[in-house]
Amino acid sequence: MDNKLVDICVNLTDDVFFGKEEKIISEASKNNVLKMVLVGNDLESSKKVINLARQFNFIATAGYHPHNAKDWNSDSYNQLLSLLKKDETKAVGECGLDFNRNFSTPEVQHSVFLDHITLAKETNLPLFVHERDAFHQMHSILKDNIHDCKNIIVHCFTGTKNALIDYLDLGVSIGLTGWICDDRRGKHLRDFIDIIPDDKLLIETDSPYLSPYISSKKSEVTSAMKHLNKPEYLVEVAKDVAKYRNQSYDYICEITYQNYLNFFGIKE
Ligand SMILES: [Zn+2]
Repeated sequence: MDNKLVDICVNLTDDVFFGKEEKIISEASKNNVLKMVLVGNDLESSKKVINLARQFNFIATAGYHPHNAKDWNSDSYNQLLSLLKKDETKAVGECGLDFNRNFSTPEVQHSVFLDHITLAKETNLPLFVHERDAFHQMHSILKDNIHDCKNIIVHCFTGTKNALIDYLDLGVSIGLTGWICDDRRGKHLRDFIDIIPDDKLLIETDSPYLSPYISSKKSEVTSAMKHLNKPEYLVEVAKDVAKYRNQSYDYICEITYQNYLNFFGIKE
């Protein structure tokens, strides 16, 4: 087994990566991060990630992040639908509910999220979900729709054990980020991520956010590594996920890669 890693959430259209995309990708490949899911968070970024995915042989998602739900208008549904029909687009999202900062009102987030679910049903594509501080609302929406949706992932899971159990009961997949490496924010996760079944686990950096080095005291970790997350750091997420699940690093690479192929319906 050659330890291929796939980062299922890279925000490659973020300003901090602009003009450096090729460098970011080539540095990641040196760490065996050979595949990426490039995530769209509004119409423009979705168009851009589809082009980048074509250029670099990756896959993309198309959707409106809940922060951007306020920008949804009467044309958005059909505009997204046409992007979802492109060969590179393999999921609807990221979309969902984020009541942590409410950049869009909860009502608007809710209605735009339901539109994304309708898009997922219409296209038969997986749903790529973001949920922060909105577990109960999210769980109830997913429960009502799970049977008509092909596949659902709750990415960047940072919630409680009970929330995780309830999500897993629905049959959704779970994405884990560098929170697991962070002594300040992610410590609670370490006690129970082993309950995620092998076939429901995916790993991600959510770069440029959520550096896995943020609380690291290692001397080789620079402040740049703490402040700017990159796909090459997925190795650290994989190592800690392996450690807290009592599985080998090689095994985590193997199952998360296979889950990526199955979840997004990729044939290699
Ligand atoms: Zn997210």
